[in-house]
Amino acid sequence: MPEQHIYDVAVIGCGPAGLSAAINVKVRNRDVIVLGAEVCSPPLDKAPRIDNYLGFAGIPGAMLRDKFLEHATSMGIEIRRNKVAAVIPDGDVFFITTREETILAQTVVMATGTPYRPRLKGEEEFLGRGLSYCATCDGPLYRGKDIVIIAHSPEAEIEANYMAEICRQVYFVPLFGEPQNLEEKVQVVPGQPTRVAGDNKVTSLHLEDKILTVDGVFIVGAETPPERLFPGIEMKDNHIKVDRNMQTSIPGLFAAGDCVGPPYQVAKSVGEGQVAGLSAAKFVVARRSQKGQAKI
Ligand SMILES: Cc1cc2nc3c(=O)[nH]c(=O)nc-3n(C[C@H](O)[C@H](O)[C@H](O)COP(=O)(O)OP(=O)(O)OC[C@H]3O[C@@H](n4cnc5c(N)ncnc54)[C@H](O)[C@@H]3O)c2cc1C
Repeated sequence: MPEQHIYDVAVIGCGPAGLSAAINVKVRNRDVIVLGAEVCSPPLDKAPRIDNYLGFAGIPGAMLRDKFLEHATSMGIEIRRNKVAAVIPDGDVFFITTREETILAQTVVMATGTPYRPRLKGEEEFLGRGLSYCATCDGPLYRGKDIVIIAHSPEAEIEANYMAEICRQVYFVPLFGEPQNLEEKVQVVPGQPTRVAGDNKVTSLHLEDKILTVDGVFIVGAETPPERLFPGIEMKDNHIKVDRNMQTSIPGLFAAGDCVGPPYQVAKSVGEGQVAGLSAAKFVVARRSQKGQAKI
């Protein structure tokens, strides 16, 4: 079997921080891949106008995002719309797993945006006791049972269709707009969830105007907290801890943008992305020369 390619740098996240990191790696002539979830930069998508990004006064957020994407793709940077589930270091290589594949890279830049925090009453309390963030992983435990999927993005539709094959009843609460690709068996329940309830285990999900009696609640398509993506990563005040080179507590792992802390702003994300990208490229060169295989 041919050996799998090992990228110099893998960037997780295709918002301003991730794309800025990627173009700076490319400028330094290292090979780079960007792994981004379905929507590149949900916050920029929602920003009606940006008034404080130098040179682009009043630009709609989505337009600025599209300019960033055009810039990256015009440089030949590959952007794969694959959501990363875990990053595991093994010797000199990071294994980056997505639903579709495993990518190998020497260094990683995490640019995953504002870290997800539990938002629902009961969410933390029932985690692992009927509440899960991954239907594909925990689904088999709910065979023949009733579950609800709280869907933060369209990717949750795939998980719902899978659960419909094994569960008795699948409810789907879309928080992103109109679902387009659900199987007939999945029942859409519009509304805003307010709390997860139960005794020892989950027994229901409360919405503003109704209660769904269920055995399981799956929260799907929301951002993954960095410490779940990368177990053991050092955090500070709910953000990834970095130094001035955007180096995290793990050698070869860098981070930039909203995931490292406020102010949550485009200019700061782009600047930090640049530093992280350059640091990652430098790390690769230093390691190569240590091993006597410098490629200038
Ligand atoms: C309504 C609104 C208005 C705003 N107005 C302004 C403004 O006027 N000026 C300003 O400077 N800033 C503004 N911001 C903030 C600005 O949009 C953010 O600071 C900026 O987008 C952060 O960039 P980022 O790259 O760090 O993160 P993001 O833009 O959040 O990008 C992170 C990316 O990582 C992806 N991702 C996350 N987890 C994974 C995973 N596991 N696998 C793969 N990909 C993943 C996400 O899908 C996303 O594409 C506004 C934000 C909002 C919501």
